[in-house]
Amino acid sequence: MNGRGGVRGAIARYRGRDIELKTPAQLQAMREAGALVAATLAAVTEQAKPGVSTAELDAVAEQTIRDAGGVPSFLGYHGFPASICASVNSQIVHGIPSSSTVLADGDLISVDCGAILDGWHGDSAVTIAVGDVAPADLALSDACRGAMEAGLLAVQAGARLTDVSHAIEEACRAAAMADRADYGIVAEYGGHGIGTSMHMDPFLPNHGEPGRGPKLRPGMALAVEPMLVAGDPETMELEDGWTVVTAAGGRAVHWEHTVAVTEDGPWLLTAPAGAPDRLGS
Ligand code: MG
Ligand code: MG
Repeated sequence: MNGRGGVRGAIARYRGRDIELKTPAQLQAMREAGALVAATLAAVTEQAKPGVSTAELDAVAEQTIRDAGGVPSFLGYHGFPASICASVNSQIVHGIPSSSTVLADGDLISVDCGAILDGWHGDSAVTIAVGDVAPADLALSDACRGAMEAGLLAVQAGARLTDVSHAIEEACRAAAMADRADYGIVAEYGGHGIGTSMHMDPFLPNHGEPGRGPKLRPGMALAVEPMLVAGDPETMELEDGWTVVTAAGGRAVHWEHTVAVTEDGPWLLTAPAGAPDRLGS
């Protein structure tokens, strides 16, 4: 599941915590894993239509990953039974794909996917509008995607970790103002370091004051993944032990990309193959 495969990077120590540093060649390997995740999410998005079950989407994802010689990193992760998390409407994250969860017109589904290729991890999530979705829900998803993009752009060498958190929070606030909406940032979950494992140090909060935490250095890789809720962001976990839902029942969205710190700015590792992946340049 962790796919270490003898490719561990150097380690930067900061306040006793370990952050894996990748060589340029190792980041290139992560770029390939990331492109596979992007291809998988594109295949799932293509199939996410009314009448399709989330179990069917999961099958598409697993097939796409395995056909490319990858391994679905979610499958079996702490016992998780599928290759994607499929979180519909008021489900925020970690929804378990099921043949009884059938998409309907107007649904929002967040699909989170991870793959291991040659020992390196990619992790990315999209929120997909199924059929004709209410404008307020589309605005919520756009706000979350914009907040993710603001966070990705803040992944700069020499910046502090919580500069990224702050950029995400500020973008959420600005979007809520612009949309005259009440958007809640989910605080219990956040982004993370990634590389030879999916979840590594450091934890990346989606809100907070800037200028704190480890200094970002070339070779670090982070998953930036804000989760936004319409209204109250308090969460609840369902009895399945996985699915996280909004306690108040508001709709939720989730966007995620894996990004590397480089001398030349953020490198979007989970961009589709051939797509522009150097941010801010
Ligand atoms: Mg993810
Ligand atoms: Mg993640």
